[in-house]
Amino acid sequence: MTGANKGIGYEVAAGLGSLGWRVGVGARDEQRREEAVAKLRAAGGDAFGVPLDVTDDASVAAAAGLIEERAGGLDVLVNNAAITGGAPQTPITVEPATVRAAVETNVIGVIRTTNAMLPLLRRSATPRIVNMSSSVGSLTMQTTPGAETGPLSAAYATSKTFLNAVTVQYAKELHDTIILINAACPGFTATDLNGFRGVRTPEQGAAIAIRLATLPADGSTGGFFDDAGIVAW
Ligand code: NAP
Repeated sequence: MTGANKGIGYEVAAGLGSLGWRVGVGARDEQRREEAVAKLRAAGGDAFGVPLDVTDDASVAAAAGLIEERAGGLDVLVNNAAITGGAPQTPITVEPATVRAAVETNVIGVIRTTNAMLPLLRRSATPRIVNMSSSVGSLTMQTTPGAETGPLSAAYATSKTFLNAVTVQYAKELHDTIILINAACPGFTATDLNGFRGVRTPEQGAAIAIRLATLPADGSTGGFFDDAGIVAW
């Protein structure tokens, strides 16, 4: 799990832990990470901390090594870590550095992490990849008159559109394997990401990722889902 020390990611870890999974809690902030691991363990979960910065090749490679050592493999990768880059983000005023930072974490970080974890996932009998996206990245919704897609978001929303495209590319490449890869939208959830303005609880936000992480062998791949079903790309 990337970004599992707080917010939605923590609740995905807790949900998978309650299903009996051993969960690697990946994130940068050590104190918050170790507190999350302790809380998961106190609730009866089998969790361990994974120092992880998805923007750093060496960190991601070390994380893959640690997961191999601590868990002997990997069945599910939840690419959940993301940043917004702050506000406002209108396309004509946004700093290039803001766009670059969002893409580095939210897109390239997913590619970097996925490729480092693929050798482990390929050995699993039930490999699943969940990319935590957002409906704000849906071009269909962005271009539907009257659809509520929030403020202009030239770095964060566009990074999620990019992530959706990347998810489809992986699904195409992995179509002849047993790896199922899908994008998830948790809904507008109260977390640090939005100053806790979201209307859903992190537990509610986590549900779709848990469902996609535990799909049966004939489950979908190359799709985009929220609790209500299919999200238009
Ligand atoms: P959050 O509370 O801000 O948590 C983000 C997590 O990502 C933290 O654990 C953070 O830990 C980690 N992270 C950030 N940069 C990282 C990096 N470079 N390497 C490793 N970990 C990193 O956000 P959230 O709301 O739970 O969001 C979780 C996911 O849901 C994100 O993909 C977000 O885009 C998506 N989403 C959220 C909402 C919403 O309303 N909240 C809506 C749609 C989609 P460290 O800082 O310690 O590394």
